[in-house]
Amino acid sequence: METGGNSLPSGPDGVKRKVSYFYDPEIGNYYYGQGHPMKPHRIRMTHALLAHYGLLQHMHVLKPNPAREKDLCRFHADDYVSFLRCITPETQQDQLRQLKRFNVGEDCPVFDGLYSFCQTYAGGSVGGAVKLNHGHCDIAVNWAGGLHHAKKCEASGFCYVNDIVLAILELLKVHERVLYVDIDIHHGDGVEEAFYTTDRVMTVSFHKFGDYFPGTGDLRDLGFGKGKYYSLNVPLDDGIDDDSYQSLFKPIMGKVMEVFRPGAVVLQCGADSLSGDRLGCFNLSIKGHAECVRYMRSFNVPLLLLGGGGYTIRNVARCWCYETGVALGMELEDKMPQHEYFEYFGPDYTLHVAPSNMENKNSRQILEDIRAKLLDNLSKLQHAPGVQFHERPPDTELPEADEDQDEEDGKWDPDSDVNMDGDDRVPLSSGVKREYVEPESKETDDMDEDERPREADPMLTESAGLKEPNSVLAAVDEPNVKLEPGNSSKPFDQPVDKNP
Ligand SMILES: [Zn+2]
Repeated sequence: METGGNSLPSGPDGVKRKVSYFYDPEIGNYYYGQGHPMKPHRIRMTHALLAHYGLLQHMHVLKPNPAREKDLCRFHADDYVSFLRCITPETQQDQLRQLKRFNVGEDCPVFDGLYSFCQTYAGGSVGGAVKLNHGHCDIAVNWAGGLHHAKKCEASGFCYVNDIVLAILELLKVHERVLYVDIDIHHGDGVEEAFYTTDRVMTVSFHKFGDYFPGTGDLRDLGFGKGKYYSLNVPLDDGIDDDSYQSLFKPIMGKVMEVFRPGAVVLQCGADSLSGDRLGCFNLSIKGHAECVRYMRSFNVPLLLLGGGGYTIRNVARCWCYETGVALGMELEDKMPQHEYFEYFGPDYTLHVAPSNMENKNSRQILEDIRAKLLDNLSKLQHAPGVQFHERPPDTELPEADEDQDEEDGKWDPDSDVNMDGDDRVPLSSGVKREYVEPESKETDDMDEDERPREADPMLTESAGLKEPNSVLAAVDEPNVKLEPGNSSKPFDQPVDKNP
């Protein structure tokens, strides 16, 4: 496959990139519950692979500072965030009305440490955006992030807070236009909805469409008002392989880069689009998936790489490890190094796995029609919009503890952020562990769980109509404006998990 992208200046593809990598050693301890397919443990497995492939020494490894309540409230409703902060497995029985209202309990269960889990994964994504904004790195990576289904006032599809929307809002403080690309098998509905009516964020989602969660993402959904033509949806069918996928991805993303000319790109690398995913039905190889990273990287625009779905966890770790290598411009040996989770990767103990021989239901003709339609829509954006740019708003100050630097660097600088006043957040203590998470007894039920077929994500009973512009528009155009907490605009019939 060719790897060239070409429309933006500042350096050839082969050039090394400065990469900041966000990781919290606690992340793997959060547990959604027995039988739940979402396993934060996969982030720890990814990290172990990165360590043993020797990639950590080529990156700036940072422990994210937890996002604060007010950081989360830049997108989410205050009452929803307070609910997430207060709810515990012990108290949830007394909160049935609230649980229902915020769609918490089934697919999105209450578990121990739920709020700190949200703070951690959101802190990594916002922290990555801050690093990119400062030019401290070319690529920022947060595999714990990418939870694209969360809405302003409700949890959805295993996602509680939308770290992607928060990171994009941060990038918009510096960049006139931000591009969001989503290669998770599920439609990136939460991010699309948040920016549906603005021309400052273009969202492009490649996903399985038709009788599949969350049910949105029709080819004809384009954005609304000023945002018309700034939402792109690429609906796909079962069994799509690397070549079919790239026959859409490259021409579409090449054209998007040319006409939209983003100042920064956020790429959600959901790994449930890989072949053999427990909830997915695509047939991408890790190389095919990573080709999207390689291609977006080739434009040499500040890039935020995030995780997302991915439910066959050994393949998720393989994929995100390989993609970290792509970010660094390093090719990794197929033979896997010994490490604490080595036994997950048998019988071959290789980084790559062969895709299956499943049928590709995406005919050449259908793919050609989709490509033509989307390129036609893009041709309607002749020129990137000129944004009346405001004075640069203050950064969200989430300094990460970093063992490469003095302890002082990890502390709050009260002068650097006007938002600091009145905050009761305690500075992060020093002495951050950098890598090599203590080998822990792995949740043995997970491996079996991982193999057991489970019903796919819940499906919509009906498609959404015109989206309510209940978006973060105000924040986009006036980034300092605090959004009014609105009522949950439940645009969809929210189904519940069908546990077998
Ligand atoms: Zn997904």
